[in-house]
Amino acid sequence: MPNTLKPSERMKIPRQHSIEQPSTERTKNFNEVSFGLNEELALLEAKRCLDCKNPVCIDGCPVRIDIPGFIIKILEKDYAGAADKIREANYLPAICGRVCPQEDQCEIVCILGKKHEPVAIGKLERFVADYEMANNLFKSPVVNNHIDKKVAIVGSGPAGLTCAAELVKLGYKVTIFEALHATGGVLRYGIPEFRLPKEILDIEVNRVRELGAEILTNFVVGRTATLDELIDEMGYEAVFLGTGAGTPNFMEIPGEHLSGVLSANEFLTRVNFMKAYAFPEADTPIKIGKQIAVIGGGNTAMDAVRTAKRLGAEQAYLIYRRSRKEMPARVEEVMHAEEEGIEFMMLTNPLRIIGDEFNWVKAIECQKMELGEPDDSGRRKPIPIKGSEYIIEVQNVIEAIGQKPNPIIQATTPGLGISKRGTVVVDNKTMVTSRPNVFAGGDLIHGGATVILAMHDGKLAAASMHEYLQNVDKEEKVTK
Ligand SMILES: Cc1cc2nc3c(=O)[nH]c(=O)nc-3n(C[C@H](O)[C@H](O)[C@H](O)COP(=O)(O)OP(=O)(O)OC[C@H]3O[C@@H](n4cnc5c(N)ncnc54)[C@H](O)[C@@H]3O)c2cc1C
Ligand code: SF4
Repeated sequence: MPNTLKPSERMKIPRQHSIEQPSTERTKNFNEVSFGLNEELALLEAKRCLDCKNPVCIDGCPVRIDIPGFIIKILEKDYAGAADKIREANYLPAICGRVCPQEDQCEIVCILGKKHEPVAIGKLERFVADYEMANNLFKSPVVNNHIDKKVAIVGSGPAGLTCAAELVKLGYKVTIFEALHATGGVLRYGIPEFRLPKEILDIEVNRVRELGAEILTNFVVGRTATLDELIDEMGYEAVFLGTGAGTPNFMEIPGEHLSGVLSANEFLTRVNFMKAYAFPEADTPIKIGKQIAVIGGGNTAMDAVRTAKRLGAEQAYLIYRRSRKEMPARVEEVMHAEEEGIEFMMLTNPLRIIGDEFNWVKAIECQKMELGEPDDSGRRKPIPIKGSEYIIEVQNVIEAIGQKPNPIIQATTPGLGISKRGTVVVDNKTMVTSRPNVFAGGDLIHGGATVILAMHDGKLAAASMHEYLQNVDKEEKVTK
């Protein structure tokens, strides 16, 4: 059914909001906070789209989903068709519909947002993906083209999964090598169950398998086999590195050695992998203090502090040295954290962590900050206010101040160009590294970014790998 409403009528419809667990209940469980839009709300929201002649929302999407195209299918109630339309550009719609920063991408440029609120594109994407799953409508596409070449993907995060799906669709034999026992990268060991249920992740990872990608877990490239062994001995003709940025940064302040100080990565990995979120069904609880402090202002910080609250922290402080405006976390997650009673300590910088006689954390000393001129990052620089130091009692300090790549592959691969920050250097048009048959993308090259950026890199790299492999064939024919 086409949209019969006039543009003026469409604009009168208010933006529809997800159904959510009440904040008082959700801090006591790890169930998903947001249930998304139901069919009625999704149809109403889809009616708001103006089906623009120049759909700028597509330009705002790093993987260029045909947004009006899938929204029209919603209006026709062809939800499986809508999901297929999204999957032409993005093989992980249920994941992206949940965690993508839509507000800074497709939605920020949506024409409707100029005078009204933008179309809730992300919520519609999630609705379509969830509807398809709940009603068993998914049919794996059949790949008819077969190219007799093996391609290796290192890392099963969003960059690797996307690169794999694209290459399988082109006809290559693709193997994903994953260091951990489970797939998904940060999607599994970082992002908590209350934002991205493992069940949803499993379904979308399995679809990449079903499409034809082989996934080998417990395989650490650089240890189980080196990158050169993959190429020279195992016969992979091109490799994509999507190994992420799993090594946490620390503030390097006194007291970081104390028991009770954790990196957010370690904390969230333990909660996710040891299933502390499922206690008492899983018998691996994590002990957390009654008062805890999380340092940082990104998505990782927000996930850590909300997780700590759910594990029983009565006072969960979020300490961030700039103001709320500069916080890199998604707006929705900041709002959810606030509703859940997280105590935001903005313009505050930790100076030292204080221990008790048993070397356990007992307090943290902080200093108030004010904002000065913009720094290299374009954000206003925080400047300490003299004499504003104060101490708060906490039993845990969780640091979420950014990550860098794990250096195993870089250290065991001669000739791979690396930046000073430890990231792998690529040509950003082709994602090729300093080695002609090795490509890279995602957090490994950015040092901590977003799911959709990792997917964009994976797609771009797949196209370049295809071109490279075709050209290698042509060169071989000429020399023969
Ligand atoms: C807690 C947290 C919350 C976040 N929330 C959001 C959010 O809401 N929205 C958003 O867009 N982004 C979010 N991000 C960022 C986002 O998750 C990352 O940008 C994204 O996952 C990067 O994808 P990737 O594929 O490059 O790497 P990863 O997801 O890190 O995957 C890399 C994979 O490679 C594997 N690997 C590493 N070394 C090797 C090796 N030597 N051999 C084999 N395998 C290896 C790792 O085990 C891992 O599985 C969040 C990040 C964190 C930490
Ligand atoms: S810009 Fe907004 S209104 Fe226009 S097609 Fe895209 S989603 Fe619809």
